[in-house]
Amino acid sequence: MKPAEDLFKNVVSHAKEYGFIFQSSEIYDGLSAVYDYAQLGVLLKNNIRTYWWEAMVRLHENIVGLDAAILMHPTTWKASGHVDAFNDPLIDNKDSKKRYRADVLIEDYVAKLEAKIDKEVQKADKRFGDAFDKEQFLATNGRVIEIRERSETIIKRMSKSLEEENLADVKALIEELEIVCPVSGSKNWTEVKQFNLMFGTKLGASAENAMELYLRPETAQGIFVNFLNVQKTGRMKIPFGIAQTGKAFRNEIVARQFIFRMREFEQMEMQFFIPPGTQKTWYEHWKETRLKWHLSLGMGQENYRFHDHEKLAHYADAAADIEFKFPFGFKELEGIHSRTDFDLSRHESFSGKKMQYYDAEQEQSYTPYVIETSIGLDRMFLAVFSSSLQEEELENGTRTVMRIPAVLAPYKAAVLPLVKKDGLPELAHQIIDDLKFDFNVAYDEKDAVGRRYRRQDAIGTPFCITVDHQSLEDQTVTIRHRDSMEQERIAISELKNVLDREVSLAAWLKKLEA
Ligand code: ATP
Repeated sequence: MKPAEDLFKNVVSHAKEYGFIFQSSEIYDGLSAVYDYAQLGVLLKNNIRTYWWEAMVRLHENIVGLDAAILMHPTTWKASGHVDAFNDPLIDNKDSKKRYRADVLIEDYVAKLEAKIDKEVQKADKRFGDAFDKEQFLATNGRVIEIRERSETIIKRMSKSLEEENLADVKALIEELEIVCPVSGSKNWTEVKQFNLMFGTKLGASAENAMELYLRPETAQGIFVNFLNVQKTGRMKIPFGIAQTGKAFRNEIVARQFIFRMREFEQMEMQFFIPPGTQKTWYEHWKETRLKWHLSLGMGQENYRFHDHEKLAHYADAAADIEFKFPFGFKELEGIHSRTDFDLSRHESFSGKKMQYYDAEQEQSYTPYVIETSIGLDRMFLAVFSSSLQEEELENGTRTVMRIPAVLAPYKAAVLPLVKKDGLPELAHQIIDDLKFDFNVAYDEKDAVGRRYRRQDAIGTPFCITVDHQSLEDQTVTIRHRDSMEQERIAISELKNVLDREVSLAAWLKKLEA
């Protein structure tokens, strides 16, 4: 097993080497925390978006889509609370001149503490052997309980101080915990300050008349301001949802970990409008539904966990993250938030326009409550990419294989003529011409077929279809499975059925409903 750090380095270099992700404006030495999706990356990204969109919009009769503009009237962001409260607490180290998020420094400290629990478990496992009962150990071991309590106390104090805007106490906590700057190793910290994450821009030609705008920091507000437009024109009845994917921008203080935290990124959000008082039930419903979507991709149940928020955002009465085990540990992948009627009420009071819904069954008007599901497309890309990339020991060496869930794979199959002559390339192209309307299929004729298999393994292509001389005689081909490397001979006329069954969007969406 490679250490996590190597694994992550491997992810970043593989993404570049095989044309998934490039640094933005690389020829000018790049732009920090901004990335471009390359020829294969764009395919994987589109497939993730489609799988999310179709699971939301196509499979739910009561969810419709929207594509709102990135630029919105600036009052939107006053109403939403972003102008006043979309801040991160930052702290500088005076020696290294490096800037950090104060809450992240504390959370990293707690993560290190909690890693000690794993060590205790490993030690005990060795000591007790077969008789080891992990659950019991975690519940009763004095050292484990002590670490847990300490972590909880730290997080509770941090959350309380942040909530009360008591930034002096956040700094005091960093000092008490003796947290050092990872670069300089010193404890020479500045005060903690709030920093607004929105990017400003201007609309209009002349400086005097220019209107100050923001690039949207989340896609959700485009949905809220259109709530009544969609409800009325779509004759939607509550409960119903509006789904949207699109770019969002945040001037993140600490933008590292590759595409995990970017300054320009894409969100996939769904706001579900419900009667007040039903939020607990719907919140649980959407937590469960979203986890099911993740698990349907087969990336390992053990790689997901829920994390309930201690510190609630200004708009929420309950919130949880679905965390994924990235190479650098469990981190937020998706947020599920019970947003109350905060957003609609605020837009009503800032715009002076009614945002209420008339419920014909209850014979009354009310401001709906909202459950939000919000996932970063780029973070999902990183989850898929990092958990798929594997080095596998074989009898005759190793292979790099990306076990990308087949429905998301950039190419569903590659067609490979055994040699570049005797009519084999022509037959290979005929096969592609047959399949290309349903599936994205690659063609490769360079190098020995073994090397071509390896190339397709390294980009996650689920099937390699090899055309040889026998194919010309009996219209059969060899189909090789990426994961098992097994090969079988099947009729060319069967190819579409196999791909339909194994890699088509329809087949995977059906599994989701099963
Ligand atoms: P974090 O705590 O990691 O900053 P957040 O809680 O601010 O995230 P939300 O505002 O809930 O995130 O946004 C919803 C989702 O958008 C997140 O779960 C994440 O997947 C994605 N996301 C948020 N910020 C970024 C970013 N800077 N880069 C990439 N994805 C992001």
